[in-house]
Amino acid sequence: MSHQVAFIGLGNMGGPMAANLAGKGFAVTAFDLSEQALIRAAEAGCATSGDPHAAVVGADFVVTMLPSGPIVEAVMVAQGLLDSIPARALIIDCSTVSPDDSRRVAKAAGERGLRFIDAPVSGGTAAAAAGTLSFMCGGDGADVDRARPVLGAMGANVFHAGDHGAGSVAKICNNMLLAVHMIGTAEALQMGVNNGLDPRVLSDIMLKSSGCNWSLEKYNPYPGVMANVPASKGYEGGFMVNLMLKDLGLALETAKTSESAVPMGALAQSLYAMLKHSDRELGGKDFSSVLRLFQ
Ligand code: NAD
Repeated sequence: MSHQVAFIGLGNMGGPMAANLAGKGFAVTAFDLSEQALIRAAEAGCATSGDPHAAVVGADFVVTMLPSGPIVEAVMVAQGLLDSIPARALIIDCSTVSPDDSRRVAKAAGERGLRFIDAPVSGGTAAAAAGTLSFMCGGDGADVDRARPVLGAMGANVFHAGDHGAGSVAKICNNMLLAVHMIGTAEALQMGVNNGLDPRVLSDIMLKSSGCNWSLEKYNPYPGVMANVPASKGYEGGFMVNLMLKDLGLALETAKTSESAVPMGALAQSLYAMLKHSDRELGGKDFSSVLRLFQ
């Protein structure tokens, strides 16, 4: 028997995630505010609904992939979606939100007898399309195990980080580190170029040396070094500067509440803010465009 999945939020990430679920035999009913997103979901084999409350009727799983924690909370609590979700359903929030947002939604769900896990993702739009995302889950172990077939249809790795909010903590730590090594990679490549090196040759050298890191390996920020990455497509697609700024804001907020020292994360946040102020358009471009700061 196929499982019913209600999927809310069909953007750059949620669209391909819902498509993978439908492609792997789940009965997906999709909802988004955007008409275009609904058309794409229908083309990918999802049933679509013009109303989130109708979308969750009969659902075994409700997956959300929304822009921010306040939006997840607004949909679930203020707009009352929690009151429409069937008691048997497991809610899986894949959005990147603050750990406190995850804990609040988990509590509100629990008060209505509903099960919830936070399950933010790493991997970006390419991994969302390929079905190779990593999920970092927070919540009860039995709920994480129940979610595994759904998450496994969209990703290659499912980690259980701890209780509610722990998935969001892991995601925020990861993205703070991602910002730091992307900026470091961009500044190193540009210094090499400023001193006469070919960025392809320097990349090859650093890939086999101690400077090797994910940004260099999978997401080179220098245009033309790597095919099929945003840097080689005018920084279009990928992971927007605005979203990285959101994640760094969550990191700094989490650092404050836990009295953690995050000097590199704070600097990364300032550099991304400078980037956006240097050219407002860059807010909507991929985060590897931070290279522009050094050019
Ligand atoms: P996006 O802006 O492309 O998509 C968000 C979608 O949510 C849009 O289609 C929008 O119409 C829809 N939406 C907004 N409010 C809604 C509402 N009230 N009800 C229904 N739909 C609503 O963003 P994205 O890149 O898909 O990111 C989604 C989440 O995933 C974010 O939390 C982001 O931080 C996280 N994330 C993104 C990436 C990436 O590479 N883009 C990687 C990992 C995690």
